[in-house]
Amino acid sequence: MEQNSKYIRLAADLQSDSIVDGPGLRTVIWTQGCSHHCKGCQNPQTWDFNGGGLVPIEMVKEAIDELENQDGITFSGGDPMFQVDACLELAKYCKEKGYNIWVYTGFTYEELMKMSLNNPNYKEILSYIDILVDGRFILKERDLSLLFRGSRNQRLIDVKKTLEKNEVVLLDEDEYFEKSAFKKKQIYV
Ligand code: SF4
Repeated sequence: MEQNSKYIRLAADLQSDSIVDGPGLRTVIWTQGCSHHCKGCQNPQTWDFNGGGLVPIEMVKEAIDELENQDGITFSGGDPMFQVDACLELAKYCKEKGYNIWVYTGFTYEELMKMSLNNPNYKEILSYIDILVDGRFILKERDLSLLFRGSRNQRLIDVKKTLEKNEVVLLDEDEYFEKSAFKKKQIYV
């Protein structure tokens, strides 16, 4: 997908108060465009790289400025990593504002690291992400009991620890919810 640093292609307006895209009350940035085409994808309308609308990044930042009572920002789609340059700029902005950041991608962490050899932004964006939910949705691996993900192959990756250790470290769910401001019960409502 051609990337334009001044714009991001979005599938919808920012959606506030989500309780299913990560812990707490979150605002979701729905990016447009995904070529993984997972069987059983819940958002096939977000696949078209020419769909949705091109939105100036500055306008998205203004929308972020206006958020109230949100615990975090979640990048979803579509696959945000097809617009890594724009998402990096927004992730930096969200982090400066103190938001907890989750990103959903159909790529695996290992694939992103390989892609970073051609575009370092794939690695740089990781430094702003708290949790990366990685991997394609695989219908035969679907499990409705999983926390914040749809299929068993998908991982909740603790990105900070992963970058420190240089190997994938999964989210320790109990530790995370004990130490963070997020109450685990919030996610089961
Ligand atoms: S990566 Fe996500 S948005 Fe893309 S096809 Fe798979 S489930 Fe759908």
